Amino acid sequence: MTARGTLIVCWCCGVPGSSSGAFELTEACYSRWLRAGKPKSGPPPRNPEKGKQARTEGLRRAKEMRLQRYLQIRDDCATQAEAAAQLGVSLRTIWSYEQEIKARERAARVA
Ligand SMILES: [Zn+2]
Repeated sequence: MTARGTLIVCWCCGVPGSSSGAFELTEACYSRWLRAGKPKSGPPPRNPEKGKQARTEGLRRAKEMRLQRYLQIRDDCATQAEAAAQLGVSLRTIWSYEQEIKARERAARVA
């Protein structure tokens, strides 16, 4: 038995994490095992799709936040280069923001 919170390498998936205190399972895998009804075969496999979705969602949200920041400073900036400098992004990124804004305006008109 490993003390709870000890850094271990999980036996089911090989991912390092803090021990759940039960077997050599990380907290995530132990709770997954409990949710699955404690199967004798051990924790069910991690759900890679779900992890991917969460990452995609996180990226989408981060992009949205940057876009909103751009919209806030957009009218105060004389040029796109100035806006890019203020946000610390490349001019190319500003162009992609502009495309996104235009696409949304088009979508809003159609709706
Ligand atoms: Zn595991």
